[in-house]
Amino acid sequence: MGKLIEVRKLNMHYPVTDGLMGNVKGYVYALNNIDLDIYQNEILGLVGESGSGKSTLGNCILKLIQPTSGEVIFDGENILTKSKKELHSFRKKAQLIFQNPYMSLDPRMKVYDILKEPFLVHGIKDNNIINPKIRQIINLIGMREDVLTRYPHEFSGGQRQRIAIARAIILNPEFIVADEPVSALDISIQAQIVNLLLDLKEHLNLTMLFISHDLSIIKFISDRIAVMYLGEIVETAEKNELFNNHKHPYTKALLDAVPVISDDKNCKKIILEGDLPSPQNPPEGCKFHTRCPYVTEKCKKEKPELKLVSDNHKVRCFLCE
Ligand code: SF4
Repeated sequence: MGKLIEVRKLNMHYPVTDGLMGNVKGYVYALNNIDLDIYQNEILGLVGESGSGKSTLGNCILKLIQPTSGEVIFDGENILTKSKKELHSFRKKAQLIFQNPYMSLDPRMKVYDILKEPFLVHGIKDNNIINPKIRQIINLIGMREDVLTRYPHEFSGGQRQRIAIARAIILNPEFIVADEPVSALDISIQAQIVNLLLDLKEHLNLTMLFISHDLSIIKFISDRIAVMYLGEIVETAEKNELFNNHKHPYTKALLDAVPVISDDKNCKKIILEGDLPSPQNPPEGCKFHTRCPYVTEKCKKEKPELKLVSDNHKVRCFLCE
């Protein structure tokens, strides 16, 4: 499989200003030297605690926010250097599914108008093109055509998320960022939406960055997984490799935090203590050193690089060198 997206040395540092004079008094280091590849027709799961930078990374890849520095190569072109006008065709190819379907649909618009809007934004006004496509997509997401004349408030959370997904795929994108797309839904509905996304991926040949803090959902939907900690990628691997042969202590801590019923009292778990350090004042050396049970003096002073440890498996930890 070829690469659809290459993220290179991506940094997002938000300036922190003092209220009166507007002087920059520091930075929030939200993303730091991110290097990441996303392959065609794969679902890359992005996992980490709240505040680790997952959504910021998704937004930077779509250029919804302009990163401080770095490159996002999409189909061979760096989209970060493109003007608003030049981004027009990229916007058709890359879409976002939001976390909250209650906020992401305009309550004053009927479903038909919500689904028609992306065509109008891209200058397509011919109803002979628009209407068959809207009917096709509504069937594809498992809804009946009579929903087109109704308003978002008439639907449940799961149905609204289906409509939001329909809007995201209606222009045949190649790439979707799904940012916690099921975390606002009832647990019984989550599986339906995750299965729908898997079907759409196959049917439409989609590539997806699936952001979640829920490891069971990430395990179910992803082909590969990237683990983030405090604005850095600390481990990437194929799904089975990551779950069965993870190397980074933070990945182990995340997996150990998932409750399982087991009699194995000898199984040594890493319990994450304390909160994520502030991204405004991140620790020197390895960013995980303040919570890592294997910390050494070297970890407190030197920064580990993200290194290949086996096929398609990269880890940022001195223990793996
Ligand atoms: Fe822990 Fe050191 Fe590895 Fe960081 S580099 S994860 S502190 S062992």
